[in-house]
Amino acid sequence: MRVTSAVKARLATVALLLLALWPAATPASPVSRADASAPAVAVAQATVPVLMYHYVRVDTMPGDSAGFALSVTPQDFAAQMALLRAEGFHTVSLADVRRAWDGAPLPPRAVVLSFDDGDADFATAALPVLLRNGFTATAFVISDNVGRAGYMSAQQLAQVVAAGITVGSHTVDHPDLTTLPTSAVWWELRTARSDLQELTGQSVDDLAYPYGTWNAGVAEQAAQAGYADAVTVAPGAVLQSAQRYALPRVRVSGGESLAAFGQSVGVELAATAAPAPCGTWAVAADGGLVAAGGADGGVLTFGDARFAGAPLQPL
Ligand SMILES: [Zn+2]
Repeated sequence: MRVTSAVKARLATVALLLLALWPAATPASPVSRADASAPAVAVAQATVPVLMYHYVRVDTMPGDSAGFALSVTPQDFAAQMALLRAEGFHTVSLADVRRAWDGAPLPPRAVVLSFDDGDADFATAALPVLLRNGFTATAFVISDNVGRAGYMSAQQLAQVVAAGITVGSHTVDHPDLTTLPTSAVWWELRTARSDLQELTGQSVDDLAYPYGTWNAGVAEQAAQAGYADAVTVAPGAVLQSAQRYALPRVRVSGGESLAAFGQSVGVELAATAAPAPCGTWAVAADGGLVAAGGADGGVLTFGDARFAGAPLQPL
C-alpha cells in the first residue's frame, strides 16, 4: 500500500486526536459490573469481540473445503483490518479484558484479534498488515509444532513477540482435551505453557482449547495450570468474568464478504453512490479512512459519501 506523507500526517493527527480523547470518550464497549447492593457474586462483563482467525493465505488445494473455510486471503485480511481501523476499533489483549473486569477502562470499540495454531503465515502474512494498521493480536501456538514445516520457527516466534504480539497456548499437540485422561490433560496444559514461556520469555496466561472443546474438568485444570482465561469456538462477543475459562469468539471464515465481516463486529456497511472497487481503499478529504473494497465482487463499501471522488489506492 502506498500512502502519501500528507495522508500519513492526516492519519497521525486522527490517531493523536483519538488518543487524546480516549480517556474521556464514552466506551463503545461498556463494562458493566454488578450493583454493589446485589448479592455477593461479582458479575463483570465486557462486550469485546474476540475474532478467530487461522490461516492468512490463499488456499490453493482444490476441494479442500475445510482448509478454505480456515483461510482468509491476504487481500481480504487487509480489507478487514482497514475496515477496523477506519471504524475506530482498538485492539486489546485478553489481559486488558481481565483488567476491565476489575474496573479498568477499555478503549472505544475494543476488539481482540486471535490466530490459532501458530502457522508460519501469521508471521509472514498477517503480522505486516497488523503492524501497518497499528494493531496487536494474540497468537495461540501449538508448542510442539514450533519449527515444523508450515508453522512458525522459534526465531519467527521471537520476532512476533518483539512486535508486541501476545502468545497464548494451544496445547502441545492439539488433542481434543475432553477425550484424554486427567493426567494427559494436565501434561498438555502444563508442558505447553512452560515450553512457550521459555520460548517467548513471557508469561503465557491465555489458552485456546483445540477444536474449542472443553468440560468442567478441563477448565479446572486450566486454572490450576496457571492460565488466567481460555477461549472456545462458541459464538458471541460478551465476555463475562464468570466464564473466564469458556470465553466465546467470533469466527472469521475464508471467503466471507467484507459486509458480513463488518456485521460480525457491529458495523453496517452503507452502500453509497461511489463504491470502492475490489482491493482498493480511499481517504476522504477530511483525513478519515472511509472506504475499502474487498475481494468479493468489488462493490463493498462502508462509511458515507465523503470518499466519493477521493483517489483510490491499492490495498
Ligand atoms: Zn487449532
